[in-house]
Amino acid sequence: MKTAKAIPVLMYHHVSPNPGLVTVSPENFRAQMRQLAEQGWHTLTLDDLARFLAGEPMPKKSIVITFDDGYLDNWVHAHPVMAEYGLHGAIFIVTGWIGDGPPRPHAHTKVGAGGMAPLLPTPNHKACKAAIAAGRADEVMLRWSEIEAMRAAGTFEFHSHTHTHTRWDLTEPDPESRHQKLAADLTASRETLQARLGKASRHLCWPQGYYDDGYIVIAQANGFDHLYTTETRINVPGLRPARIGRIVTKNKDGAWLLRRAQIYARPWLGRCYRWLHS
Ligand SMILES: [Zn+2]
Repeated sequence: MKTAKAIPVLMYHHVSPNPGLVTVSPENFRAQMRQLAEQGWHTLTLDDLARFLAGEPMPKKSIVITFDDGYLDNWVHAHPVMAEYGLHGAIFIVTGWIGDGPPRPHAHTKVGAGGMAPLLPTPNHKACKAAIAAGRADEVMLRWSEIEAMRAAGTFEFHSHTHTHTRWDLTEPDPESRHQKLAADLTASRETLQARLGKASRHLCWPQGYYDDGYIVIAQANGFDHLYTTETRINVPGLRPARIGRIVTKNKDGAWLLRRAQIYARPWLGRCYRWLHS
């Protein structure tokens, strides 16, 4: 088996027809996923990535797909594409924003004699933030029933993105209180995942990519030792799992994504590219 030298980790937020800062259109997302599938890329679980960082070989052309926050559009527009191409990804959910209720229709949900179910609106990032702030998170975020359906289908696995998505560094000037609040946030998220999904994992993604050395210690003390950043680090064996790098995806076609995957799967090329664009 030819083995991977580095593993690119992609970062998505929204897949939706409503344009926004961190939104990929359903057409471009489909084109990106189709390229990965047709070119023979392997979409790994986060535990596979952990084993690779610890030195276990993984096949060449291995890649990790991640989504942040857990928006309704991930179910409506991303899940059906992942199912169609047999791909697997991870969603970091803000556990306090996930609601209850039956699954809503997604882009491949059929009704009647082969007709398609009407889809709910999937607003852009700014509008989602406003809905959450107004106490209407359920309109824009995933429900536990949809999460269960995606786990059963094998399209996505779910990990923590904290319970409240609060930037404690901005709200708590006192370091001690900041660290206490973060610890409570992580505990609440771990307990919610445990209660709802039967298990919580070792993988955590930082809200807005913010962390410091103290945060890493607190996360590790709460059982999260694989920490996902928004930094474009090259993920090679031996990399400290406390600082896993991710690639910001763009609303561009499949060829664009394939080039990024090829660059970040090669340690030297990835480092040169990162240096040129920093
Ligand atoms: Zn986030």
